[in-house]
Amino acid sequence: MRLMRYSYDIVHVPGKSLWTADTLSRSPNQEQMTADDTELMESTNIYVDCIVNNLPVSPTFMDTLKTQLEADSVCSRVMKMCADGWPEHAKQEPLLKHFWPEQATLTVQDGLLLKDTRLVIPAAMRNDVLDRLHEGHQGVVKCKARARQTVWWPGLGQQITEMVLRCRTCLQERRNHSEPLMPSDCPERPWQKLGADLFELGGKIYLLVVDYFSRYVELALLTHTKSKDVINHLKSMFARHGIPESLMSDNGPQFSGQAFTSFATAYGFKHLTSSPKFPRSNGEAERAVQTMKNLLKKASDPYMALLAYRATPLQNGYSPAQLLMGRRLRTTVPTHPSELQPALPDRSLLFQKEREKRMSDAANFNRRHRAKPLSGLSPGQEVWMTDSKTSGTVIQRHTSPRSYLVDAPHGEVRRNRMHLIPLQSPAQDEGGQQQQEPLPVLEQDHAPPVLGSPVPSPGDSTPRTRSGRVIKQPTRLNL
Ligand SMILES: [Zn+2]
Repeated sequence: MRLMRYSYDIVHVPGKSLWTADTLSRSPNQEQMTADDTELMESTNIYVDCIVNNLPVSPTFMDTLKTQLEADSVCSRVMKMCADGWPEHAKQEPLLKHFWPEQATLTVQDGLLLKDTRLVIPAAMRNDVLDRLHEGHQGVVKCKARARQTVWWPGLGQQITEMVLRCRTCLQERRNHSEPLMPSDCPERPWQKLGADLFELGGKIYLLVVDYFSRYVELALLTHTKSKDVINHLKSMFARHGIPESLMSDNGPQFSGQAFTSFATAYGFKHLTSSPKFPRSNGEAERAVQTMKNLLKKASDPYMALLAYRATPLQNGYSPAQLLMGRRLRTTVPTHPSELQPALPDRSLLFQKEREKRMSDAANFNRRHRAKPLSGLSPGQEVWMTDSKTSGTVIQRHTSPRSYLVDAPHGEVRRNRMHLIPLQSPAQDEGGQQQQEPLPVLEQDHAPPVLGSPVPSPGDSTPRTRSGRVIKQPTRLNL
């Protein structure tokens, strides 16, 4: 009890190194209590009373706790051992062995079992206390910090982690961290792979098509946003530049109907769609939309703005027009006629620059978003869908990378891994807080030693240390 206030290391000093006999081994048995002993007894009692009086609990809770401690077979034995000493066999007993390493910090006071200044809670009351610790739905770290000031039992830290991870309310607000960006592979040729998207600007709807190779952008003003209109504009663009091998779009209604499927079949290109609600996989078109919006917002003549974009060199040194058509476009900027002669880009230099750009883009993204891969999901796994805020069951992996087919309340859906949070299996749901079970993982975070000697001076209502410093009152945990 006297040493509890200190943090100390025990070091063996051999007898031959001792100049005088050390107190502990040479202290004679004393029949009579000296004045010093009495003072120690008194200050110890005051210290313990101070802890008990400052416990952040209501008297009703305290009474229930005392009754439950007595009724709890493990806690009552621990309390008995605190008084009578710890027999060696307690170290091996499954129910007691988790208390064994804590014996130096366990004390009994007024029918309460304390670990340092924390209340030891018997098994029957643990679920209730766990709920209280999680009031306000704070995260694992905060809940543990709260527990460190108030309560303890073996395996508490582990149980807090499990409880928070299982909490439905918290789950609904949880977000997955970003996954590393998959650097998109550069197409071999111009107009081989396209991205398409619709966007709205100044009350008008535009269809945007971007070539992945050259970043050449085609725009079309849509009078209707029906699939038929989109298809007609695409046909016009394909008549100009040829039919691509593949076209990437989101799952918008213009792209997902039967008419579009028939169009893709008739023209012989592959239609790829991004994961629903995960437009990042259609990133090239998304980026082009942003560029175009910025351009058109400022332009008095939208066609001149579009021409300027197409004729301006990209990071790789070539303009979109050069990459797509193999020639520079004549603009209002004076250019020598020889510069307008067709000339093919240096392919090896171009690919090298493109590779470098894509790698550095991916690295930047990963650094900015602290991206790391998310774990794989197996069929049958219960998941929470963060976008639709419903739960479902994984059916299988989708052929697209990082996508899964999920059995949801309204039928089968496809989701990117980003939007799926694994739920624990029902077996774990019930087992987490079983009483009297040997707990495999013990709480790692021990309370810091109580510093100072919190002995209140008589006649002063504020608890103070012996040196006169005011003792901080423990946080009240509405128990
Ligand atoms: Zn919660």
